[in-house]
Amino acid sequence: MQVLAHLSGFKRVLELMKAGKTAEATALQKSLQDEFMVQFDENETLKRQLSEVAAVLDLSECMSFDGQKYWLEEDGKREGPYCQVCYDRDATLVRLAEHDRHYECRSCHNLYMKPKLKTVTRKEITLPKTPLKEPIPIFAK
Ligand SMILES: [Zn+2]
Repeated sequence: MQVLAHLSGFKRVLELMKAGKTAEATALQKSLQDEFMVQFDENETLKRQLSEVAAVLDLSECMSFDGQKYWLEEDGKREGPYCQVCYDRDATLVRLAEHDRHYECRSCHNLYMKPKLKTVTRKEITLPKTPLKEPIPIFAK
């Protein structure tokens, strides 16, 4: 609809010029240019928003959730972990700082405990009944 209004505006400028009303034509031309600039800016903003949304959608396809934290998996490589709170709330990836027993988000300060490693007791270690290799003789016969 606005395109049609602009086209008729340009046609009117031409008619005014032909009729020798250059001052009127110039004023109309100026207002059409101003409207064009407003629409150009709006269009650029929409394009930028669209590409941001597309980037977030691309990113979400590479994200995996381990029940606590997010990981980014791309080309078989795993990056992260990233804060679940920051990603879910702000759609931003904040890499967690690793400590001995936990990870920490430096943005929202949320803590993520590392899973406890199973400690192996001496009894659980089973030795092979036969030696894997012949012992190397220390003294040559
Ligand atoms: Zn966070």
